[in-house]
Amino acid sequence: MNSVPVVELKDLDLVYVTDREAVLALTGLNLTVSPGEFISLVGPSGCGKTTLLSVIAGLLPPSRGEVLLHGKPVPGPTPEVGYMLQQDYLFPWRTILENAQLGLELTGRLNDAARQSVLELLGGMGLENTANLYPHQLSGGMRQRVALVRTLATNPDLLLLDEPFSALDYQTKLQLEDLIVDTLRQRGKTGVLVTHDLSEAIAVSDRVIVLAANPGRIRSTYEIPDNIRRAQPFYARDEAGFNDLFHEIWRDLETLEGKGE
Ligand code: ADP
Ligand code: MG
Repeated sequence: MNSVPVVELKDLDLVYVTDREAVLALTGLNLTVSPGEFISLVGPSGCGKTTLLSVIAGLLPPSRGEVLLHGKPVPGPTPEVGYMLQQDYLFPWRTILENAQLGLELTGRLNDAARQSVLELLGGMGLENTANLYPHQLSGGMRQRVALVRTLATNPDLLLLDEPFSALDYQTKLQLEDLIVDTLRQRGKTGVLVTHDLSEAIAVSDRVIVLAANPGRIRSTYEIPDNIRRAQPFYARDEAGFNDLFHEIWRDLETLEGKGE
C-alpha cells in the first residue's frame, strides 16, 4: 500500500509537566496506521494508552517527535478525528437525538440533511425509537451506542476508542464489538482501540500493540492472522490459532506486570 498513512508517530515523547515534577509518559514511539486499519493498544495501567490517544487527537502536543495525520502535523482537535471514551458523557437534560447531534452542533454543521443522517445512524444501531427519550431511560449498552452515533455523526475518518466497552456486561460488550467493527469496515474508517481485554483486542483488530510502562513505550506488535481478522469478533474467538496467540501475548503482558512495570 502506498497510500498516505492516517496516523504516523515519529520518535514521539510526551512529558507531563506539573508544578512539582515532570513525568515522561511516552518515549520513542514510532507507529504507522494505514487507512481502514483497526489496531488495539494493550498494556498495564499507567503505560500511557490514554495519553497516546490524546496525542493523536491533538489534545496534547508532543514534547518531542512528530504526530502526523494524513501526512500533516496535527494542528489541534479536528473533526477528522472522533474520540469515544469509556464513560458515555451524554447530557442528561438533552434527548437522545439532541445528544447524538451535539458534535454537528458544535462544529456548526447541523442542518436538515445532517439531522436525517443522525436519525439513520440511530436506526442502524437499533435505536430508532429512542430519539425523543432521555439518557436515564436507556440501558448502558444503548447509551454507548448513542455515544458511538454521536462520534460517527461528524463523519470522522479516524476513530479513537478508549475502553468503550469496559463498563458493559459481557453479552452487550460482544454485541457492541461486532457493531463497531461492522460499522467501521462498511464506512472504510480507521480505528485505534484501547482495551484491557486481550481477547477483545485480538478479536477486533488487524494488529495488537503491547505497551510497557515507566516510561510508556511500544514493547511488541502482533499481526492478527487473516482467518481471525475476517471472522466477526463474536466468532473470532473460536478460530484456529486464537488461543495460541492469546497465550503468547498474555505471557508478554505477564512479564510486564511481573517486573512491576
Ligand atoms: P493508561 O491509560 O495506560 O492507564 P495514562 O495515559 O492515563 O495511562 O497515564 C500514563 C502516565 O502518565 C501515568 O504515569 C500517569 O500517572 C501519567 N499521567 C496521566 N495524565 C497525567 C496528567 N494530566 N498529569 C501528569 N501525569 C499524568
Ligand atoms: Mg487510560
